[in-house]
Amino acid sequence: MQIVKTVEEVRAQVKAWKKEGLSVGLVPTMGYLHEGHKSLIDRAVKENDRVVVSDFVNPTQFGPNEDLATYPRDLDRDAKLCEEAGADLIFNPEPENMYAKDACTYITMEDVSLTKNLCGKTRPIHFRGVCTVVGKLFLIVAPDRAYFGQKDAQQLAVIKRMVRDLNFDVEIVGCPIIREEDGLAKSSRNTYLSAEERQAALILSKSLNKGRKLVEAGERDAKTVIKAIEDEIATEPMAKIDYVQIVNFDNIEDIDTLTGNILCAMAVYIGKTRLIDNFIMEV
Ligand code: AMP
Repeated sequence: MQIVKTVEEVRAQVKAWKKEGLSVGLVPTMGYLHEGHKSLIDRAVKENDRVVVSDFVNPTQFGPNEDLATYPRDLDRDAKLCEEAGADLIFNPEPENMYAKDACTYITMEDVSLTKNLCGKTRPIHFRGVCTVVGKLFLIVAPDRAYFGQKDAQQLAVIKRMVRDLNFDVEIVGCPIIREEDGLAKSSRNTYLSAEERQAALILSKSLNKGRKLVEAGERDAKTVIKAIEDEIATEPMAKIDYVQIVNFDNIEDIDTLTGNILCAMAVYIGKTRLIDNFIMEV
């Protein structure tokens, strides 16, 4: 497995693979890899001849008061996981390899729920950064398929729309959320949690399960489901809700009556750490 730092090295390698007629899968990540990332890499290895994992903490998707500086990094550990999973190349650029000092071209969406609702409400520049870096990775790696987790469901919806709107020649593959045994969705940010907070963080999956069960039992009123989830979260004193919402998964618009492909999503602060979780259901 190779670890490369520059766009030119990735391009040269992918060109050589394509010349041999090999298919290429891409797994975009910010590193500090865990079982969630591994599930994406495993799937990519199964479905492609060669797999590129990008390992890049992308500065343009972090707001000024967010955790860019403290985001956990460990390339050696990441390399081990990628190698064991059967990846062929890690692209680990420095920010200056990805963004020229005077870069001024970004991929932004119009003023739509896809990027303005849910996480877009408190992270106004986040999806501009995500679209731009993922668009750049698609142009650098030219993958046949790219793998994204449903853990970041809004991101998955945004990327699907960007690919459709801009005719990127790549198949987007969404992959299920991987959880700890007790239900907590795996996340690089879980490392921020103290032991007590780690326990309190179970309220996310626990309350979502409550909501899911209500919908499974036939409840179709969004407000009723949201209220039940919020009431459950309120039982955990360390938890502070950023949002609990139910939206159409395709366009991330709020819905009152549950029908079609729905996304029930939440962001909750446990102490200073902001965690997200969700479930997606065809109703
Ligand atoms: P990140 O490094 O957090 O930017 O995540 C990189 C990719 O891994 C994204 O597509 C995430 O949705 C996905 N991912 C992160 N955590 C999980 C998880 N627990 N289960 C499945 N996919 C995940």
